[in-house]
Amino acid sequence: MVTCSKCVLPGSFPGIQFDDAGVCNYCRNIPIPDSSEKQAHREKFEALLNSKRSTSSFDVLLAYSGGKDSTYTLYLLAREYNLKVLALVFDNGFVSDQAMANIRHMTGTLGAACMVFRPPFDLMKKVFGLAAKHDIYSPKTLDRASSICTTCIGMVKAMVLKTALSYHIPLVAFGWSPGQAPISSAIMQTNPRLQKFSHRSVRDPLIGLAGDELKPYFLSDMDLEVDQSLWPVNIHPLAFMEYDEDAIVEKISSFGWVKPMDTDPNSTNCLLNALANHLHRKRFNFHPYAWEIAGIVRSGSMDRNQGIAKVNQEEDRNMVNYAARLLDIDPGF
Ligand SMILES: [Zn+2]
Repeated sequence: MVTCSKCVLPGSFPGIQFDDAGVCNYCRNIPIPDSSEKQAHREKFEALLNSKRSTSSFDVLLAYSGGKDSTYTLYLLAREYNLKVLALVFDNGFVSDQAMANIRHMTGTLGAACMVFRPPFDLMKKVFGLAAKHDIYSPKTLDRASSICTTCIGMVKAMVLKTALSYHIPLVAFGWSPGQAPISSAIMQTNPRLQKFSHRSVRDPLIGLAGDELKPYFLSDMDLEVDQSLWPVNIHPLAFMEYDEDAIVEKISSFGWVKPMDTDPNSTNCLLNALANHLHRKRFNFHPYAWEIAGIVRSGSMDRNQGIAKVNQEEDRNMVNYAARLLDIDPGF
């Protein structure tokens, strides 16, 4: 299959077009932040921290998976910026044992409070089963993540915001890599109006299919009435910090983080990822991480050949089968 000569996006990627040099329209049209833009965001970020440090609650609520990117974000917030961090872990039933050990160790070592939120497994099984079998989301949503990942992240984002609102925490942080989320959204004030709008993409279709038992895991109409002054600012610092996978792993390893050996190559925490990737690739004929990896390659933080190897590598059958068995899904090899 044709692949963009600059990034890793394949000819099967939705809306892709190549010019005479084999460069895709995304490479041509998406601006890459330069060092001065990153510096400007860093300054804005630091000014924000100084104005938002809380006197009565945690400074920041971090969506924490135990994976390398959110662990590095935890390090930045707790050590480099000396913030009081509450790390919220969403246990979807597929957090690897090593990731859970990393969560316990790293939050302790870096001095962060940690809260593990674990829905009953039967509920997660139902929700992931629905995500695997039904067309829940718009095709656009699925350009950038699998249906299963979109479901899980939707629940994570909702629980993180709900918790920040109820604990009056002024900042909410995510460890999105520079390929996952653009620098333009790296510092973003949340508000009820935007939240209502975003409900249409994940919350409403999912509750429509799964039923009311999912309602407690999302924001309610009452949550949306919380005073605007209490709505947190969303931040994802890796968009404007130096991002180099090897350097990140080296830094967090120096604090005792251990790379899990039981996850697939694109995840350092989740045992469901291989099945989610497998189902997505079978259906759409491109890797659900292609968009993210293309962004990292474009930004210069990853070698193109390394990125291509990542998106072309077959999923580990044992891992796909492991998750499929737990969810009672036919992986359809
Ligand atoms: Zn490209």
